[in-house]
Amino acid sequence: MDTNYNIRMNNGLDIPALGLGTYLTDPGDETYKAVRAALDHEYRHIDTASIYENESDVGRAIKDSGVPRENIFVTTKLWNTDQGYDKALLAFDKSMKELDIDYIDLFMIHWPVAKMRNESWKALEKIYRDGKVKAIGVSNFMVKHLENLLEDASIVPAVNQIEFTPYLYQKELLDYCREKDIVVEAYSPLTRGFKLEDPRLVGLAMKYGKTPAQLLLRWILQHDMVALPKSTRVDRIKENADIYEFYISSGDMKILSSFNEGFRVAWNPSTIP
Ligand code: NAP
Repeated sequence: MDTNYNIRMNNGLDIPALGLGTYLTDPGDETYKAVRAALDHEYRHIDTASIYENESDVGRAIKDSGVPRENIFVTTKLWNTDQGYDKALLAFDKSMKELDIDYIDLFMIHWPVAKMRNESWKALEKIYRDGKVKAIGVSNFMVKHLENLLEDASIVPAVNQIEFTPYLYQKELLDYCREKDIVVEAYSPLTRGFKLEDPRLVGLAMKYGKTPAQLLLRWILQHDMVALPKSTRVDRIKENADIYEFYISSGDMKILSSFNEGFRVAWNPSTIP
């Protein structure tokens, strides 16, 4: 496994297994610098969303980076207030304009808004069929949302981006996605920092000569998921990418998975209206 480690999606295209998250990265210089730093340190995948209000800075950093566009995987997301067929088409055009990078690799529904999500999905299918995006996906879809979507979808989502850490080990959802050939992306993979001082995690990380953040990210990779850590600090951006040259034993993978306590930092998709 090296820094260019990819996972194959159900449409035959690859998605890099490590991406830089940009939620709560301030628009402007902060986003620009974080994305430039990530691209300088071998990240080839950037995750943004229209609600983060930093798409234009992501696009600018990509253009200035000198990395060929085709070597970078860019995701953005359809926000809740833009759901519905026509609004989703307009929102996609707006994201294209903001990013200004010729094409978007992955466009996804950010949250499974009731009554709207399946109509939004039809718009994403059209965008995909029109060749405007390389892949379409969803985020925060639980099994019940996916079952409902698949009842009238003609394209199976390529990915489902969900909160996933040892402290929120959504095994049933992961198994369901695997069965349907949907790649799972883990967001907030560092628990937004909340669990990085857990003595059990710190102890295991020391055993491997790694940091707690690196252990959490490696646990994601060894589940064949995509990890999306966010940082605005160059030292941490580098640290979070240094996860390829060690291997967590199967016994320690199980110990990490046993930390599950349903701990979330984001909304619970099962209980949002
Ligand atoms: P996260 O990546 O779990 O954690 C980010 C926090 O950890 C920041 O406060 C960061 O601070 C700190 N950090 C980063 N690397 C560290 C390290 N090596 N050691 C110690 N602290 C470190 O949380 P997240 O931003 O919520 O999730 C990551 C990405 O997933 C988002 O940015 C976004 O792209 C995506 N996401 C998607 C959804 C969705 O609904 N689809 C929801 C949430 C997140 P500094 O920046 O100061 O380093």
